[in-house]
Amino acid sequence: MENKASILVIYTGGTIGMIRDSETGVLKPFDFDRIYRHIPVLESIPCSIDSYSFDPLIDSSNMNPSFWKELATVIEDNYETYDGFVVLHGSDTMAYTASVLSFMLENLNKPVVLTGSQLPLGVVRTDGRENFITAIEIAAAREADTPIVPEVCIYFENKLFRGNRTIKFNAENFEAFLSVNYPVLAEVGVHIKYKRQYIRKPNFKKLKAHKDLDANVAILKLFPGISKHVVNCILNIDGLKGIILETYGSGNAPTDAWFLQELEDAVQRGVTVMNVTQCKGGSVELGRYETSISMEKIGVVGGSDITTEAAISKMMFLLGQRYSGRELEEKLIIPLRGEMS
Ligand code: ASP
Repeated sequence: MENKASILVIYTGGTIGMIRDSETGVLKPFDFDRIYRHIPVLESIPCSIDSYSFDPLIDSSNMNPSFWKELATVIEDNYETYDGFVVLHGSDTMAYTASVLSFMLENLNKPVVLTGSQLPLGVVRTDGRENFITAIEIAAAREADTPIVPEVCIYFENKLFRGNRTIKFNAENFEAFLSVNYPVLAEVGVHIKYKRQYIRKPNFKKLKAHKDLDANVAILKLFPGISKHVVNCILNIDGLKGIILETYGSGNAPTDAWFLQELEDAVQRGVTVMNVTQCKGGSVELGRYETSISMEKIGVVGGSDITTEAAISKMMFLLGQRYSGRELEEKLIIPLRGEMS
């Protein structure tokens, strides 16, 4: 008989564990023991569960690189002891955390499943109970002693997604996440149906946790009417090394001379510019329209079908690894963890 899987639940905060403050009425995180009290069935799940709680617990809107560093360290320190990890996390920035962790944890061969909920566990109609229990089951799932999902993923409302392909698209529905450019990794109903062909294969190499992230980055979202002043200010931010340029459609932007000149000057100063689309689905194709061909000539890098969340995470990660110039561009355009096609 197979040994029971051992799972480490890492509690970072988020709605799933929040309680309403009786004085102010606002939602604030509460401790992990109370989570257990709300889901007594966890005791009868056939795997051993330990927990690690961050202190302080945070609303994920307060997420930042030093928290990510700590999260990667907890996983690294416990990697050999556990078969899988469940990260309880607020949904607001979950797609960013899943993306950045996928880059930080090179050679990950065990499941890291992020989940949370739209309603706290203490609320009768909570979605957190099912999300949490199924996330544990997925983190524990093995076949011939090999984890079925050895990658960073998000489980939310009956679907398992590749973490770095996911976006939060709805602040109201229980179905809060989408992965438009990559198929779901599993669908959950009566059975958990894993889509093996889309799940990363383990490489059985030793985990390498890269913890340096460089936050000298920015996102510049285009809109009709964006002024030269705004573009100039953003591209000239002191210390800026990388920028994610959110363009229209398949990577299109204005062809105004001033705009292209600002971009060219930034590239000349050594700022790496990555072009991603504002569309939720589809891909950047530099050179398809006249409105993107000049950017290619200037040296703007095409982001293919990467999400903005994964793009900014990848930029912080690669800059943190001290990549720059051509080497950085080469890494940006190839999939490192299945984040782009
Ligand atoms: N504001 C919360 C958070 O991201 C929302 C949630 O958990 O769904 O922490």
